Amino acid sequence: MSRIFRAVIMGPPGSGKGTISERIAHTFGLQHLSSGDFLRENIAARTEAGVLAKTYIEKGLLVPDHVMTRLLLPRLEEIARSSWLLDGFPRTLAQAQALNSACDLDVVISLNVPFETLKERLTHRWIHPASGRVYNMIFNPPHVKGLDDITGEPLIQHEDDKPEALVARLRHYKDVAKPVIDFYKSKGVLHTFSDTDTDHIWPHVSSLLGSKIPAPTPSVQPSPPH
Ligand code: AMP
Repeated sequence: MSRIFRAVIMGPPGSGKGTISERIAHTFGLQHLSSGDFLRENIAARTEAGVLAKTYIEKGLLVPDHVMTRLLLPRLEEIARSSWLLDGFPRTLAQAQALNSACDLDVVISLNVPFETLKERLTHRWIHPASGRVYNMIFNPPHVKGLDDITGEPLIQHEDDKPEALVARLRHYKDVAKPVIDFYKSKGVLHTFSDTDTDHIWPHVSSLLGSKIPAPTPSVQPSPPH
C-alpha cells in the first residue's frame, strides 16, 4: 500500500459494527484495532490500565477518557506504519479530540440502524465473557445451546442486554456519540450508512473504501528483460 489509510467505524451496540469491521479488515488489508478487544487483552494480561479499566467495565460504565487515550494512542503509534481501522474508539468527544491531535483520519464510517432492529438483535445476544465472542440466538447461534463454540464454556447474557436496560443503554450511546458524529461531520470525513441489514450496508461501505484506498503495490516485480 503506497499511502497510510486511517479509518474509524462508529455504531451503537447491535449495529453490525463488528461484522463490518472484520469484512473491511479482510477485504482491504487494514489492521483492525477494537478498543473492547484491546481492553480485554489488557485485563487478561493484568496490565495497570487493564486492572483499572476492569472496575469500570464490570459496572457497565465507560472507561474514563484519560485511561482510554493513554492506552490507545501509544498502540496507534506502534502501528503508525500500517493502514488501520479503529473500532470502538473514539466513543466520546474528548477521545475524538485527543485522536485528532495525534493524527488525521481519512474516513469515519457511522452505522445508523433503527432502534427496533438494535433492540431485536441485542435481546437475543449472548456472550462468552472471557473472549468477548458474541452469539445471537436467532441469527448466529452457538453449535451447542448456551455454550461457547471454541471453549465449551457457558455463555452469559449481559445485564445491559436485557430488555429493561436496553432502552437506557441505547439512549446513552446516542447522547455520547452525537457530539463525536457532529465533530467528524464538521471535518468533512463522516460517511453515514443507514439500513436494517448488515448485508445491505456492506456493499456501500465496500464501494466507498474501494474508491478511497489506494490499490496495493504489486509485491512481485516484473523480471528484467534477458
Ligand atoms: P465493546 O467490546 O466495544 O462493547 O467494549 C466493552 C467495554 O469496554 C465497554 O462497555 C466500555 O466499558 C469499554 N470501552 C470500550 N471502548 C471504550 C472507549 N472508547 N471509551 C470508554 N470505554 C470503552
